Amino acid sequence: MTYTSDGNESIPTDFDDVVQQVSTGTLAHQRIDELLLEAHERYSDVDEGLLAHYIPVLGQVEPETFAISMSHVGGTVHGVGDCHHQFSIQSISKMFVYALVLQEHGHEVVHEKIGVNNTGMPFNSVMAVELNNGHPMNPMVNAGAIATTEMIAGKSAAKKWENVREGLSAFAGRPLTLDDEVYESESEANERNKALGRLLKSYGQLDGDPNNAVDIYTKQCSLNVTAHDLAVMGATLADGGINPVTGQQVVSADVCRDTLATVATNGLYERSGDWLFEIGIPAKSGVSGGIVAVAPGKGAIGAFSPRLDMAGNSVRGQLAIGHLSRALGLNLFASAPDSAR
Ligand code: GLN
Repeated sequence: MTYTSDGNESIPTDFDDVVQQVSTGTLAHQRIDELLLEAHERYSDVDEGLLAHYIPVLGQVEPETFAISMSHVGGTVHGVGDCHHQFSIQSISKMFVYALVLQEHGHEVVHEKIGVNNTGMPFNSVMAVELNNGHPMNPMVNAGAIATTEMIAGKSAAKKWENVREGLSAFAGRPLTLDDEVYESESEANERNKALGRLLKSYGQLDGDPNNAVDIYTKQCSLNVTAHDLAVMGATLADGGINPVTGQQVVSADVCRDTLATVATNGLYERSGDWLFEIGIPAKSGVSGGIVAVAPGKGAIGAFSPRLDMAGNSVRGQLAIGHLSRALGLNLFASAPDSAR
């Protein structure tokens, strides 16, 4: 029996020599345009939720912006609403940086160092670190994301940042740029993330300077994307690591599988269980109002609308993705009785 460094017994595994088969079904892609329009119309009037005021510039954005995009693994990207509106990627960056780190270090090392289990607590919880003997727990909360970013290849902070930016750009299929205003605003307001960095360091969970790791993390959160980009980035993870638009192999199929499993259990923080129960596909949200949801082997949805629920997840984004998951048959847990009977 092996143990992860959070002290928990890990699941017994003995499958390395078993050839992995994949079975995911197909996407009814001829209906995507019609269903995107339907979801957009249905939820455009929802005005519940609040902007992310704790990062000052995010508290000043236009609250009505609403975009839904979907990329099929075949490479066609559909969209409705403000699909080319740019916003900072925020926490959605965590899943793509995690994929790059898995690619670099492999399944075992990353499992042991970062973990995969849900904290049951908000994304910026300090208590979660304390309750777990300093272990970052999973890469989708801030502590785990800071520890993950530190593992990006590169000897200097500048090189690590370059690798993050280039890696995320490969997922998007275009060069992503930093939103300086968001980066400055968040840098002035991120005392809590700096505290998390120092706490991890005190537990021996970070090798380098914690402020460097937090700074790269803040930069990765400040990269600008659109709903269209999120759909393509997600579809790369749905497509065995090949960007369906550019054809570039960004990460391996094994990395996609591991990333999506971790996203499924942690992507919406302490609401991840509710999300899987209601919607049934791995998804990651960010506090600027983006959500990406991935249907393995089929495609991905990128949604954007900045009003958030209390856990920091876009209200309209959740509704739109829920609608599409149901109408397009994306829920991983749904089945119908065998028709051959
Ligand atoms: N940059 C944000 C933070 O660290 C990201 C949080 C999020 O999107 N949930 O607080």
